[in-house]
Amino acid sequence: MKKLALSLFPVVFCLLLPLFLVGCGETEVKQVSEYSLDIAMAEDCKSLFAVEQINYVNNSENSLKEIRFHLYPNAFRQDAKSSPVSVSEKTEAYPNGDSFGQIDIKNVYYPQGNLDFQIGGEDYNILIVTLPEELFPEEIFSLSIDFEVTLANVHHRLGYGDNTVNCANFYPIACVYKEGEGWSENLYHSNGDPFYSDVANYEVKITYPSSYSLASTGKVTNQEEGEECISHIEANMVRDFAFVLSQKFDKVSQTVGDVTVSYYGYVGDQNINSCLDTSVKAFQYFCEKFGSYPYQNLSIVKSNFVYGGMEFPNLVLISDDCNQQNDYDYVIVHEIAHQWWYGLVGNDEYNYAWQDESLTEFSTWLFFKDNSGYGLDYNALVENATNSYKYFVKVYSQVLGDVDTSIERPLDKFETQPEYAQCVYTKGALMFATMQEMVGEKKMNRAMQSYFEKFAYQNATPADLIATFNKATGYNLEGFFRSWLDGKVVIE
Ligand SMILES: [Zn+2]
Repeated sequence: MKKLALSLFPVVFCLLLPLFLVGCGETEVKQVSEYSLDIAMAEDCKSLFAVEQINYVNNSENSLKEIRFHLYPNAFRQDAKSSPVSVSEKTEAYPNGDSFGQIDIKNVYYPQGNLDFQIGGEDYNILIVTLPEELFPEEIFSLSIDFEVTLANVHHRLGYGDNTVNCANFYPIACVYKEGEGWSENLYHSNGDPFYSDVANYEVKITYPSSYSLASTGKVTNQEEGEECISHIEANMVRDFAFVLSQKFDKVSQTVGDVTVSYYGYVGDQNINSCLDTSVKAFQYFCEKFGSYPYQNLSIVKSNFVYGGMEFPNLVLISDDCNQQNDYDYVIVHEIAHQWWYGLVGNDEYNYAWQDESLTEFSTWLFFKDNSGYGLDYNALVENATNSYKYFVKVYSQVLGDVDTSIERPLDKFETQPEYAQCVYTKGALMFATMQEMVGEKKMNRAMQSYFEKFAYQNATPADLIATFNKATGYNLEGFFRSWLDGKVVIE
């Protein structure tokens, strides 16, 4: 995600489970789970009904007695414990006042009959499905979930506005299971992107009113047009699936190698070609810098979104609150960099947000360093970030007497959005910029490329990142990383 306010511009599927090699540098071969979603949008697109079929692969070394799924839409309930929107952003996010949404699980079943399930977690945020018998490692269990989602009138990842209907984090998605740790069940949070998931294959059918156009993760394989549109979509080896509907989309596309990069603006926009141009430049730059993009589509989608932008596999949201082309460009570049850091190389975004976010912000600076036409000098970006961070420490120290400047904290341990932003985006990007100064650009490039090659399609831990950077640069960077991540570094 990229918040606009953080921009430096004020200062400046099928039942056959295919086998995939997981991680280009690894010898491990794993099957991935499969999701099949049959989604019917209501006529007003303010709710949806879906039948989800999942072939869940137990990729852990433990036998499982249950499977747990996130129910993110329940964070939009009236009495949710942890709102997706902070108090300071409420007015902007809910332009027509309070509005609520939720997910209702209608039925959970498998070919032999109904399955026992309960809605649990800290705040009705987890669907717990009891398995009829233990699922051993590498075994597959097929189940179906019928559910209904009510969308809130909110400019968020899930919600509708006057311009777009955003459908992300709308379906039950399996929690990540780790040996020794169990299921990862974090609540939604207004700070950062509180998500963590494994790569899977998706086959999706969406039925929606023909007055709307669709942008989505994956590739549309068949389109039926009539009173209603039916889009059939395939998305393999992605860690989530999202789509956006709008009656206002104006789409422009450019083919780059085998990939179609599309920018979805609104009818009448003057800047759609500029936005497409930046999207293509950023896409090409990161392919060359980090490694090739293995999908066929990338969609950059303007939308009603309270923050600057948000990343999903093959699809990013760009807020229509962006005022100037500079804002669009910065957010587009940042969100596209996330296709590498989050999309391909995944991480626990709740507990280690810096792994994708700090690296993405640093990658954004690198783009502007090597694309001088945008008039954003790299040294000025670093200097502005330094000043901005120092100002944050000074003000927070004066007001609170003490300030926690650690980068590595769970999202709920950041008191405010600015504190999260300054530590994870600003200071986190400065950490990588300082490292590049130490080891040189060549070794830094090698480190980022190795991290990508080794962990694409997987979830990397902080230890994985640090070990990869150590090996690729020839430096022992453990102490360097820890001093920055734990807040011991003083930036002068
Ligand atoms: Zn981001």
